[in-house]
Amino acid sequence: MASGGGVEEVSNKQVILKDYVSGFPKESDMYLNTSGTIKLKLKVPEGSNAVLVKNLYLSCDPYMRPRMKQPIPGNETYIEPFKPGSPIVGNGVAKVLDSGHPDFKKGDLIWGKTGWEEYSLITAVQTLFKIHHTDVPLSYYTGILGMPGMTAYAGFYEICSPKKGERVFISAASGAVGQLVGQFAKLLGCYVVGSAGSKEKVDLLKNKFGFNEAFNYKEEPDLHAALKRYFPEGIDIYFENVGGKMLDAVLLNMRAHGRIAVCGMISQYNLEHPEGVHNLMTVVWKRVRIEGFLVSEYHHLFPKFLEFVLPYIKEGKITYVEDVAEGLESAPAALIGLFTGRNVGKQVVVVARE
Ligand code: NAP
Repeated sequence: MASGGGVEEVSNKQVILKDYVSGFPKESDMYLNTSGTIKLKLKVPEGSNAVLVKNLYLSCDPYMRPRMKQPIPGNETYIEPFKPGSPIVGNGVAKVLDSGHPDFKKGDLIWGKTGWEEYSLITAVQTLFKIHHTDVPLSYYTGILGMPGMTAYAGFYEICSPKKGERVFISAASGAVGQLVGQFAKLLGCYVVGSAGSKEKVDLLKNKFGFNEAFNYKEEPDLHAALKRYFPEGIDIYFENVGGKMLDAVLLNMRAHGRIAVCGMISQYNLEHPEGVHNLMTVVWKRVRIEGFLVSEYHHLFPKFLEFVLPYIKEGKITYVEDVAEGLESAPAALIGLFTGRNVGKQVVVVARE
């Protein structure tokens, strides 16, 4: 619908966070505003250097859960909390409709921080990456070619100091990050084992991603014994995605001078009181290096990463599994599904295909 001055005005559907969340998030913690009352002019305000985009694909990521928590004064986390009553913010792929910024023009495709809505006016333009390679699925820029891909790359190559032949264990191994870490490790000639939460995911790890072994952690009454079974000589590298009991069991199975890259601890994100870690003394006698990292500190490696990963994708040497939910209305369920393991592969939401 055109408004005065010939500028098109649209109503903008949005996924709104109702209030801060404690415990496991529920679909009802968010709602889709379809009332038609949210109007947006498809034009960047005069004099602004923002960009106005049409959102195409949205990314569901575990770190969005900590953003739903009520901030505790004096105990701020690394990332700003969401604002109740406002649209969820996350990574996405979008098309530029109008731009006040010299680096972007109408028709450009971008990925980066956007809103969970049909159209977004993005003022933090420095968080956006321009998409140059369009001969791969655009949705990949929420995953393998976006933040999770960079996480796997930086975490594995920069933090794990991997060497050919080493024994690598990955938890949440079939997810957005884990499936890539496993394939990078295989390409380097490592022995790779992953854990995941269903038979379907275990089959994927072994038969699609080429892991040497995989197991369903939910069916293992003794995680220490399970790891011993797959790593009789111990683990050189643990790519940590889950924390909790798995970390404790891994600590008992590390080899001397092993490395643990702490990427995330999803098993702790919905707990009011995080679980303790009991086997830390092994870090001393096995001389284990444990190092956390944030992908945001590795953005400068993005061009190098693309040069590395694009040929592997095109030659079919790296494969990527996505779980695609259709429509903005499916976004709340898709997001909370990460915390029950409902997603098989990278969880994406399609808002529009172009
Ligand atoms: P993902 O693996 O695609 O999705 C999350 C998966 O975690 C679920 O499918 C589920 O798989 C597993 N999970 C959920 N609750 C669990 C629990 N209580 N115990 C064990 N596993 C559980 O997510 P992702 O995007 O690849 O992220 C993986 C990890 O990397 C997360 O911890 C995330 O926070 C972290 N991360 C960190 C950075 C960084 O900069 N440091 C960047 C991106 C991601 P199962 O069915 O296998 O249980």
